[in-house]
Amino acid sequence: MRPADTLIARLSGVKVTGKGRWMAKCPAHEDGSPSLSIREMDDGRLLIYDFGGCGSLEVLGALGLSLTDLFAERLTHCAPPLRSSRTRPTPDTPPAANQTAPARPQSHLDKASPASP
Ligand SMILES: [Zn+2]
Repeated sequence: MRPADTLIARLSGVKVTGKGRWMAKCPAHEDGSPSLSIREMDDGRLLIYDFGGCGSLEVLGALGLSLTDLFAERLTHCAPPLRSSRTRPTPDTPPAANQTAPARPQSHLDKASPASP
């Protein structure tokens, strides 16, 4: 279920005004005619704007939702798989750094020095 569906299902007086755009009655104040604008962005986020002056937190609070409900679905589904696959290859690189350490040129210099008159 998309965040838009969750939100729209809880609102009344919903009208589709375009692709990914709705108008609905604001649940946070006595709304005679729909003054709450909802817009779904390309990445799945929801933007809500109340022409009656209510903040998005007030609107969501009246519906029993929080800001995370506006974009929770996309974020939670995408983030974990990307992070786990990128952290696994890194443990292979540290052993390569150890191979450069055991180089001791100083002992050779000491034995070559006694070549004098
Ligand atoms: Zn309002």
